[in-house]
Order: sequence, then C-alpha cells, then structure tokens
Amino acid sequence: MIGIGDAWRSASQRIDRLDARLLVERVAGCTHADLIAHSARLLSAAQLATLEVLVRRRLGGEPLAYLLGSAGFYGLEFMVTPAVMIPRPETELLVDLALARVQSLPAPRILDLGTGSGVLAVTLGWKCPAAVLTAVDLSPAALAVASGNAAMHEVAINFLAGDWYAPLGEQRFDVIVANPPYVTHADPHLQQNGLPFEPQLALTDGVVGGDGLACIRDIVGSAAAHLRAGGWLLIEHGYQQAAAVRTLLCQAGLTEVASWRDLSAIERVSGGRLR
Ligand code: GLN
Repeated sequence: MIGIGDAWRSASQRIDRLDARLLVERVAGCTHADLIAHSARLLSAAQLATLEVLVRRRLGGEPLAYLLGSAGFYGLEFMVTPAVMIPRPETELLVDLALARVQSLPAPRILDLGTGSGVLAVTLGWKCPAAVLTAVDLSPAALAVASGNAAMHEVAINFLAGDWYAPLGEQRFDVIVANPPYVTHADPHLQQNGLPFEPQLALTDGVVGGDGLACIRDIVGSAAAHLRAGGWLLIEHGYQQAAAVRTLLCQAGLTEVASWRDLSAIERVSGGRLR
C-alpha cells in the first residue's frame, strides 16, 4: 500500500514533478491540497496500477493533456482526446483579436474553421454570449469532442462537418477565425515534443516539399465570399509565415491587413477586413 504523497514523490523521480502531481491527483480523485494535507491517504491497487500505466505513457512522450483528458485554454478547461490538437497558449491571441472586433455588435456572427477541440468557438461564445456561433471541422471525431466542450460550458454552437467553407452555403460572418494546419510537411518539429501523438491533419497540410500554407491559401482565398461588409478574417500561422499570409490577404482583396505578435513576440496571427 502506498499513500498519495509517496506516490507523488515516487512518480516525480521518473517524470516532471508537476506532471506527476497532476497524474496522481487525477488517479486518486484528489486535490493539490489533499496531497499536502492528507498525504497518507492510500491509493487502491487499481489506482496504483492506473498511475503506473500513465507514468509509463508519459515517459514514452505522450502529452500530459491526453493522459489527463483535458487542457486549459483562456482560463477554461477543455476535454481533449488524441482526435484533436492540444490547445496552445499562443492561440489565445486569436481570441483577444476576435473579441475586440465583435464587442460592439449586438449579435455578431462568428465562424471557427477547423475547430478541433472547439476552444476558439467555445471561448468566444463564453466571453461574448450575444455571439451566434458556427464551427466547422473535417473530422467527425473532433466535432464530437468540440460539441462535448460546448455542452460542458453551455455555449450554443452550430457544428458542421466538412471542408472549410463547403458546408456553409452562402452564409456570411462578422468574424472568421481559424487555427489551421500550417506546419510544413518537412518540419522536424513534427517529430518532437509530443507532436507525433497529435492528429497530423490538424498540424500540417501534408504537402511534400510545400510551404505549409495550402490550407491558409484555401481559407484566405474564399474568405471574401463569407464575410459581411466590414467583417474580419483572423488566421493563426507559423513563425515565418506572416509576410506570406499578409500577401495572400491582400490578394484576396481584404483591407487593413496586419499581423499581431504573441507573448513570445512572434507574429502569430494575421488578418484583414472586407470593405
Ligand atoms: N502551433 C502548433 C505547433 O507548433 C501548430 C498549430 C497548427 O498547426 N495550427 O505545434
């Protein structure tokens, strides 16, 4: 028999201390305060076995969020499974930029393309209850995760399965947000830091020898047909892609084209407006 405090200490010798703590808390169903104040509380044999499996999976490089089944984004908790990309903190910039553009509108129509776990659509709906939200993804498994997250946060979203704008007909929006796949197929980053465990469909356009911009080209190219007058397209991209994305936005006839920096001072989101 082993207490939760000892289980934490022992796991910490094999994996990161915070990861160990969060896994013990998940398995034991306890809080951080319990770990400190009731550290002698015993784990059952089954809980101990579960912990061992999770520690081994973590040692094998699986991202903590998949082991926990959840990840934080913009102060909210989201369910994640390997069917969706794990939300990244830099994507919070996209939320701020979108919110700034819809706050003065009475019932802004917002579209999230490639919603994945649904973090963008759900967070925007949470922060802006007047918004009318639509979210599209190609993956039915991702849409199942996203609708679970929408239900958990009680945000109403019209989820549609399909390829970018294809399921939308003639609908137009005040703001379109997207965090599409943009990592180039050859980027060694795809083989590191847990990325091999994430859906490649969410990370890269898969074009061999390409620049990673195939999806961004599709999204930007048809944006004008799906924006209301004065509406904005805001799109996340890679650290070396801002200038190329601005060029695409200009070619698509959008105005006020600009890029914004994330907390690491990297140009991470670019956008433009339909006149
Ligand atoms: N920012 C992610 C990464 O570098 C990729 C996100 C994406 O392709 N949309 O891991």
